Amino acid sequence: MSKVLEEVLAANKAYAADFGGKGDLPMPPGRRFAILTCMDARLDPAKYAGLAEGDAHVIRNAGGRASDDAIRSLVISYKLLATREWFVVHHTDCGMLTFTDEIMRRLLASSLKTASVDASGWHDSGQGPGSTEGNYVDWLTISDLAQSVVDDVQRIRNHPLVPKDIPIYGYIYDCKTGTLNEVAEATRIGKAA
Ligand SMILES: [Zn+2]
Repeated sequence: MSKVLEEVLAANKAYAADFGGKGDLPMPPGRRFAILTCMDARLDPAKYAGLAEGDAHVIRNAGGRASDDAIRSLVISYKLLATREWFVVHHTDCGMLTFTDEIMRRLLASSLKTASVDASGWHDSGQGPGSTEGNYVDWLTISDLAQSVVDDVQRIRNHPLVPKDIPIYGYIYDCKTGTLNEVAEATRIGKAA
């Protein structure tokens, strides 16, 4: 068994042993909100936003971007599970700032193996085969953090499946301090009507 697999199963055993009354939680989030945020390993939404089991929906992807699939989850979150407030939280030092579609497509075309990064940018081992399928994916990279929060709040706000009465707040999490900093322009756009 891999070391990680072993560790995860051991941790879960300890967690389940101390599960308490959490087995009776209702499915709809008790605090009726959802957070869309990045998958970055340094971000722990349960900790940075004070969540316990049953409190809120957390939707995560690379960048915390308002992709079609993120919006699918948000719409389910509201329509079927009655959340009433949404957060979009991107963060400092996001990996999505370090590449473009063009770079990702080039890396994947040359090799599927893990690339490396240094001061001059991303490099490949070159160990093929790669694939040009990456050309058909919008990688939703980020060039300006505050702008990406504004863009994503705007996209969600204007989406035909999203009701106007749900406020959407835009924030940047600071990986150096653990602080959530508001992107005022995003929150303004995300205001409920
Ligand atoms: Zn990130």
